[in-house]
Amino acid sequence: MIEVVFLGTGAAAPINERNLSGTAVIRQGEIFLFDCGEGTQMQFRKASLRPGRLRYIFITHLHGDHLFGLPGLLTSLHTAGCHQQVELFGPVGIGEYIRFHQQLCQFALGYTLQIHEISASTPAVLWRSDEYHVEWQPLEHGIFTAGFAFVEADRPGRFDVSRAEQLGVPNGPERGRLQRGESIVLPNGRRVHPEEVLGPPRPGVRIAYCLDTVPCVGVEKLADHADLLIADSTFSAADTEHAHESGHSTAVDAAELARKSGARQLLLTHFSGRLRQEDLPALVAEARTVFPNCSAATDLTRFIVMPREADGAMD
Ligand SMILES: [Zn+2]
Ligand SMILES: [Zn+2]
Repeated sequence: MIEVVFLGTGAAAPINERNLSGTAVIRQGEIFLFDCGEGTQMQFRKASLRPGRLRYIFITHLHGDHLFGLPGLLTSLHTAGCHQQVELFGPVGIGEYIRFHQQLCQFALGYTLQIHEISASTPAVLWRSDEYHVEWQPLEHGIFTAGFAFVEADRPGRFDVSRAEQLGVPNGPERGRLQRGESIVLPNGRRVHPEEVLGPPRPGVRIAYCLDTVPCVGVEKLADHADLLIADSTFSAADTEHAHESGHSTAVDAAELARKSGARQLLLTHFSGRLRQEDLPALVAEARTVFPNCSAATDLTRFIVMPREADGAMD
């Protein structure tokens, strides 16, 4: 299970109801932060997220509404006495941005900040652990922009108890070994391999985070059969021309990308300040004509993303 918390759903400048871009993905207590617009640390506090659990930060691009919250957040981790290592990923220039603030404002960090700059030649997989990895793809926004996908590793298949009974596998630690992918030998000398008692591997959760961008192939790759696509939806369909000229997508564009890529659910975000909260239901209605399983994210809302086999996965 993964929790997604929207810290900011606005574009360009904050309004009363919307902070600037920032989305926390929480898995087993670890926080992955995607974008860090101005005010993100206050939203962290309002959402009761623990700064000590923040391990990874991914910045899509160097427009201020996606990173002006970084110096404050990083400094506050230090003053809060956090000691975890933090990995920061962002376009080339993100390192200079941090060093500039550190030197000019003379702030030291009592923890290790590892900076990973992304350029066109950076491999698609940015970070991999045994249990998940994070991918990136270039988006199209008039400035170098990276979209991301958080991807859990496949889980072992479901244990087939009746098949195990047929084969004579005792109801003991042998079953655990098979579930962990080990072969066992029965008292009668018969060797049982895991694939004889396990179903097909079960896919982990895939979440794509794609803003800011016009519709492009990078989004389609990242959202390919994603359990959740979080997409740029800066304007309504009536402003399509303006959206594309300014490097953005409409709600309908986002819905078309979700449909093309076979995503399960779409959450719209990065709304223009021209759109009031009361305008969002109409925006969602436009998108639902193309992709029904769609909602608008609002600040501080939380979504649970379950793996594929558990239906009714999201609230
Ligand atoms: Zn933006
Ligand atoms: Zn931008």
